[in-house]
Amino acid sequence: MATANATVSIADDVSELDRRIAETDDLEQRIGVIREAVSGRIAFSTSLSIEDQAVLHAIATPKADIDVFTLDTGRHFPETLDVIAASSGRYCIPIRIAFPEARKVEELVARDGINGFRDSIDARKACCDARKVQPLRRQLAGAGGWITGLRRDQSGGRGDTPFASWDNDFKLVKLNPIADWSFEKLEAYVADNSIPINALHAQGYPSIGCQPCTRAIEPWEDIRAGRWWWENQDGKECGLHNRPANFQPASGEK
Ligand code: SF4
Repeated sequence: MATANATVSIADDVSELDRRIAETDDLEQRIGVIREAVSGRIAFSTSLSIEDQAVLHAIATPKADIDVFTLDTGRHFPETLDVIAASSGRYCIPIRIAFPEARKVEELVARDGINGFRDSIDARKACCDARKVQPLRRQLAGAGGWITGLRRDQSGGRGDTPFASWDNDFKLVKLNPIADWSFEKLEAYVADNSIPINALHAQGYPSIGCQPCTRAIEPWEDIRAGRWWWENQDGKECGLHNRPANFQPASGEK
């Protein structure tokens, strides 16, 4: 795939890659297409969600050359950490665990309090920035590709998620190999392959983030209604996937 200096070629290449991923419905084949097309390190940032567990299975089963990592924010549910242990027991590929910088978290908590993220959207974004976005930025530095488990029907804001796109902020190809999957298809894939998933999914948590920022939902609610439920329902994201082109971290720190 082209380098960051060849903007036109990147656009052409990414468009072609998007088309090639769409040609097959098989997830392992999609991972193979991605590995073949993108040079350099390809990172898969797993949130340990049911989506990401499906992607992990497709990466780990043929042992694709993909760098798998997860971000431990320090505020996860115990059940989420259990998914790491279960996956490490099931699959023979390493899942690296990346932590936030201790000093950044100490400064955040000293300034805003241990649960300061409830006080304002700015405080919540600062917490997500220190615990998620900045660690993600470090892990993606130098990578050629970034695989995620985003799906178009997870929320209105993700409705036009492509299979492949150029991320001008991280300067890499962002890849969403199950972008077109319905939740029913995802559930069937997980069941057919006996993939380990978070026990909370069966307790009304379709979307799971940090423990203090996630609640169970009612059957009629949007699947992301339990994330930061005290905020306005529009545009609720942690900043990992909705960075503007000129994104600057909320904390003002790099
Ligand atoms: S989800 Fe909540 S606890 Fe986790 S990083 Fe964001 S604001 Fe902080």
